[in-house]
Amino acid sequence: MKVLVLGAGQLARMMALAGIPLNLNIKAYDVASKQVVDPLNLAVTYGDLASGINEADVITAEFEHISHDVLALCQASGKLKPSSTAIKTGGDRRLEKILLESHNVANAKHHIVATRQDFDQALTKLSLPIIFKSALEGYDGKGQWRMKDASQADGVWQEMAEFLAQAKPENPQAIVAEQMVQFDREVSMVGVRKADGSTLAYPLTENHHSNGVLSVSLALASDNALQAQAADIFDKVAGGLDYVGVLAIEFFQVGEQLLVNEIAPRVHNSGHWTQQGADVCQFENHLRSVCDLPLGSTALIRPSAMINVLGTDTVPTDILSLPSVSMHWYGKSKRPGRKMGHINVSGASNEQLYQRLIELARLLPAEDFPDVLPYISAKQQ
Ligand code: AMP
Repeated sequence: MKVLVLGAGQLARMMALAGIPLNLNIKAYDVASKQVVDPLNLAVTYGDLASGINEADVITAEFEHISHDVLALCQASGKLKPSSTAIKTGGDRRLEKILLESHNVANAKHHIVATRQDFDQALTKLSLPIIFKSALEGYDGKGQWRMKDASQADGVWQEMAEFLAQAKPENPQAIVAEQMVQFDREVSMVGVRKADGSTLAYPLTENHHSNGVLSVSLALASDNALQAQAADIFDKVAGGLDYVGVLAIEFFQVGEQLLVNEIAPRVHNSGHWTQQGADVCQFENHLRSVCDLPLGSTALIRPSAMINVLGTDTVPTDILSLPSVSMHWYGKSKRPGRKMGHINVSGASNEQLYQRLIELARLLPAEDFPDVLPYISAKQQ
């Protein structure tokens, strides 16, 4: 089968790698150059979007911020999975909130802001501190403002008003004001749904962020009620979108309750550990779902973790001498903070995983991985 992925980044690349053993032919649409490319060698081009749509049996996406005209063309072909509605919902925090509310899924208290009047209402309805997030095009902590003190109101509104004024009239922007949650930790669930409504979910993953960007994901062996709670929410959200493919849900854990932070209608950075912690990784299961093939097991076969490589294109090669460590580079040119690759590591038990993580973290230069060793050391205690 021929699959066209909208977006030509590392997620399309890892889908292409996962698709090779299944004889799936993966091409990617690069939204910047407007060309269909080989996701493993972006210099090899195949033509424009229209011919890409025509050639493909199935079209899917690696990111949610895709222009609506591209989505409309793909949807009209009848080949797009998940649907353009599902992709747009993941790309617009307003639609996400409507979806969550309509399925009674717990999330942070919020208010939509487009005008100063809305802003003042948000300040009345929510208590400080408040986080303001752009409805469109916000990810990895971008397009966000935080307000701790009422005296900041005019300054914060001024910045947001300028931001709102830059939006194109055909794509009206808004801000979602959200009560800051005093969470215990951040976790995510990556799951997969087929067109027949069947679902499977990977184990809940603990995520450690640094400056709003994912740094480490930990998938440990545990059998707690949180997994069932997350899987139930996954079924509501994925079912509500009539979703096909892999979908990720990020949560704040407060005590024993999960509040949804956001949903990502695609394979997700917090699911990269599945490349060696599960029999079938998220990339392959996404392809199996959109190609209507049987799904593979999402069970944890060994506790695993992932460390993101941000802004650097080298790590000591010695890390490869550690047991169960694998390196995944994305072949991208270096930019500060850019996701360049990731490192996976596994252990036979949670304890062994922690030991290996500590050994690995000690080999990683502190200037490129400043928070990794402190985070893992604190977890191990
Ligand atoms: P987001 O882009 O929504 O994932 O936000 C980036 C990061 O900001 C999250 O991973 C959290 O660490 C933090 N954050 C976002 N929303 C909230 C909230 N309502 N309460 C507390 N922290 C938040």
